[in-house]
Amino acid sequence: MYDVIIIGSGPAGLTAAIYTTRADLKTLVIGGNKWGGQLMLTTLVENFPGFPDGIQGPELMENMRKQAEHHGAEILDLDFVSGDFSKQKGPFRVKTSEAEYETKSVIIATGADTKWLGVPGEKELIGRGVSSCAPCDAPFFRDKNVIVVGGGDSAMEEAQVLTKFANKVILMHRKDTFKASEIMVKRVKENPKIEIVLNTEIKEIIGDQKIEKVKTLNNKTNEQSETVIDGVFVAIGHIPNSKVFEGVERDDRGFIKVTDHTKTNIEGVFVAGDVHDASYKQAVTAAGFGCAAALEAGRWLENSY
Ligand code: NDP
Repeated sequence: MYDVIIIGSGPAGLTAAIYTTRADLKTLVIGGNKWGGQLMLTTLVENFPGFPDGIQGPELMENMRKQAEHHGAEILDLDFVSGDFSKQKGPFRVKTSEAEYETKSVIIATGADTKWLGVPGEKELIGRGVSSCAPCDAPFFRDKNVIVVGGGDSAMEEAQVLTKFANKVILMHRKDTFKASEIMVKRVKENPKIEIVLNTEIKEIIGDQKIEKVKTLNNKTNEQSETVIDGVFVAIGHIPNSKVFEGVERDDRGFIKVTDHTKTNIEGVFVAGDVHDASYKQAVTAAGFGCAAALEAGRWLENSY
């Protein structure tokens, strides 16, 4: 039996694993088919402390993984399938696609996934011009014209990344104020390749084998337009990966509810990172939550077993 099973292998999950293994707790990380979380899809991370010149997202995650393994964490590159969390108290049985494991405690650190626009044509054209990851797909848009949708830091970052390849980037936002931090907005405004289009929503994405154009609506003037375009990058936030945890309480947006210091409504089940955190969503805060969940799990194990 494991002392702790950690579900998820982003900064929250792997930091939790570093702490639990160093506390001599037998630890299994169910890391997912695509391990590493959102940082695997980014390029330069400039705001993770300890790297004055920044560090590439995938390199940072490789380092975290090596550090967790070095201290004895077992890491499976398999998806979590189910757990018997409805019974209110462990030991819990946790299933992957290949096997079942028993554990005294669980840390849920499954992060969040891309939020899509949900407009006609979007789903059909994913991978044919519609993307949510500029660092992954930007090279396909060399000398092309693209739209980035969103008004947060992700949209600013995606737009900047795309200017390295694209001819022109239209940053399209539904409001006339940005949610993004000032420094990111400033960089976008200063970039001559980026045109900012405000109060505008994409209503349809049109194309057969690839994107040809988008239909848009100016929500101030009610004017409808069509724009010929090669790519649409959706950067409008994320949805927490929490649905699979039956019995664990979530809020109306799907974020796992924290009752007290990383504890969930189920005794012995803790939570860390973007799957519960709707406020900060930073790699460093996710890592911090991972540390806190590991310490809480350790304390709970000491008192309960
Ligand atoms: P945010 O939630 O911050 O922003 C989402 C944006 O998308 C908002 O402007 C929102 O509009 C818009 N939006 C949401 N739904 C829709 C929709 N259906 N149609 C059109 N627009 C929509 O998410 P981000 O992913 O940008 O950022 C998440 C967190 O990650 C933040 O805390 C951010 O600071 C951080 N981050 C930091 C980075 C860095 O520091 N390098 C890089 C990337 C992210 P509205 O404003 O109208 O709500």
